[in-house]
Amino acid sequence: MTDQVLNINEMFETIQGEGVYTGVPAIFVRLQGCPVGCPWCDTKHTWTLDENLIDSVDAVINKSEESERFFGISDLGLLALFEQQGYNAKHVVITGGEPCMYDLTGITELLHERGFTSQIETSGTFEAKCAQQTWVTVSPKVNMKGGYDVLTSALQRANEIKHPIAMQKHVDELDALLAGIDLTDKVVCLQPISQQARATELAIKTCIDRNWRLSLQTHKYVGIA
Ligand code: SF4
Repeated sequence: MTDQVLNINEMFETIQGEGVYTGVPAIFVRLQGCPVGCPWCDTKHTWTLDENLIDSVDAVINKSEESERFFGISDLGLLALFEQQGYNAKHVVITGGEPCMYDLTGITELLHERGFTSQIETSGTFEAKCAQQTWVTVSPKVNMKGGYDVLTSALQRANEIKHPIAMQKHVDELDALLAGIDLTDKVVCLQPISQQARATELAIKTCIDRNWRLSLQTHKYVGIA
């Protein structure tokens, strides 16, 4: 366990919609803070870590729309909060923001001790510090405004590499990034951007050619968070 505070922007129970864990009931914990700067980011409200944005646990968990407000909590406090909320899911997805700005060793080890499985969704621009059993999903963010490189060590640690694609250039980018990475024990998932028909067609074809996995954002098809 660490005495690090986890700053949480959102927490809710749902179904994992993407990647290898698609369909699995999960508690999503969205951490505050990200310097990566993807222009199309759909969680820009998590970028700023400013103590003036700290709010109460109740206010953050029950907020009805996205906001920059967050609360800080310890590893043990978070587990107690899961219980208090009456969550049933036994899979915990730590996302962001960029969750690997935090040392997640303490919380992920605690989760596994308590019978949960854990997953981290990261951009690959920070080292993933977590339990050995944690499933690490890297969606590599290359050449973004923040100027962070995708780390080879993050790609090596990844269990799953999930890449959004719309055109062949995105597949080529991924190939360049993965050159020299041993993919033997990893799952590579291609995810068509915005459910576009051409992107889906390209993803299907490439997955079949390479024996990769197709990741559909199923939560968007069924209209859940
Ligand atoms: S890494 Fe994720 S949270 Fe950060 S800017 Fe990119 S998409 Fe947004």
